[in-house]
Amino acid sequence: MIGGGINGAGIGWELVRRGYRVTLFEKREFGWATSSKTTKMIHGGLRYLEQGHIGLVRESLEERAFLVQHLPSLVRPLRIVFPIFGGSTRSRWMIGAGLALYDRLGGRGALPSHRWMGADEVTKIAPLRRDALRGGYEFWDAQVDDRELVRTVIRSAVRDGLDAREHSPVERLRRNDAAWHVEMRDGTELKYDAVIAVAGPWMGQLLAASSISSGCALALVRGSHVVLDRLVSDTGLLLPSPGERRIFFVLPWKGATMIGTTEVVHEGSLDDVAPSSLEIEYLLERFNAFFATRATGSEIRSSFAGVRPLIGSRADLGALSREYHVESDAGLVKVFGGKMTTFLSLARHVGDRVDAMLGMHLRARPPQFAA
Ligand SMILES: Cc1cc2nc3c(=O)[nH]c(=O)nc-3n(C[C@H](O)[C@H](O)[C@H](O)COP(=O)(O)OP(=O)(O)OC[C@H]3O[C@@H](n4cnc5c(N)ncnc54)[C@H](O)[C@@H]3O)c2cc1C
Repeated sequence: MIGGGINGAGIGWELVRRGYRVTLFEKREFGWATSSKTTKMIHGGLRYLEQGHIGLVRESLEERAFLVQHLPSLVRPLRIVFPIFGGSTRSRWMIGAGLALYDRLGGRGALPSHRWMGADEVTKIAPLRRDALRGGYEFWDAQVDDRELVRTVIRSAVRDGLDAREHSPVERLRRNDAAWHVEMRDGTELKYDAVIAVAGPWMGQLLAASSISSGCALALVRGSHVVLDRLVSDTGLLLPSPGERRIFFVLPWKGATMIGTTEVVHEGSLDDVAPSSLEIEYLLERFNAFFATRATGSEIRSSFAGVRPLIGSRADLGALSREYHVESDAGLVKVFGGKMTTFLSLARHVGDRVDAMLGMHLRARPPQFAA
């Protein structure tokens, strides 16, 4: 397997629990890339619901329920408020209907249902400007330390038999004598019955270096966050981005406040991704449009950016699907896209593809996270 982000870690774990012997190669440290640059949400995604991706939202909420129950030390319920302002393009009733559907898809008893709050209650929770504030909806999702999630999954997988190797860049893949040859950057070559490529935004590069074609086009879309050196609220906020159809988050994060995210076509190296000054300005402007106490650049504790490997062309970045796409043929499985939230369901799907490819019918032992 190539790629030690959350998806590679999850797939490796699934396969060893099915009884396969698996080696996972990661060119740097596990989880250093996209999988530790996320908004840290284990969620269905209200935005994806608005875009009509009901299947993805349902699958994500099922995964959320599983993770909240089975990994409570890391995946914690988070209260979020969606404030409603006069003149908003999304009406109170539309958002209420969306949240009712979100609750239903999330299943009974999973997390508390949404409820309406008046403007006074909203401003007690978060120091928002009062002008035009009509009230807000409270709903629940979950938050995770994304890098720690990858480490926990890798630890669980290694305990269950995965051979997980960091600092092991793969140069290219080659098919020969009905086997796959994995050529490492240090010149060594290893032979496998099957290969799974889960290289996130590097999928295009890996396949091109190996002269392997694919029917799947990936758009590389950078998303940035800034972390302010103060805790604005211990409740998360989901806010409409002024002048756009987008929404953005203001979230409590390790005693500070995280603001994100952006959507910008990423040009240049994938190995050194950082927010541009324009993105930082954009995020501060969005925050300052809503909060009584303005944020300035000097308050930024840290900032980070990741590149989403999204399926489709670049025309409308916000509308590109967050679903995953898997291709399998002649002992090679190619994994594209996907959310962090759905890493376990993607892993089951890939496990079934591997079984079908190798003519096996294996059942995975139930996943038990390592401490
Ligand atoms: C800004 C942003 C916010 C997001 N927020 C959320 C969120 O809140 N919730 C959510 O569910 N999802 C979120 N996502 C999506 C989520 O981050 C991704 O779906 C997920 O992290 C992808 O994981 P991955 O394992 O496929 O890719 P990656 O984490 O990028 O892992 C790929 C790995 O492959 C390795 N690799 C590449 N080429 C080679 C090679 N030749 N040899 C060896 N190793 C190689 C890389 O080093 C890398 O570690 C967000 C994404 C972004 C960018």
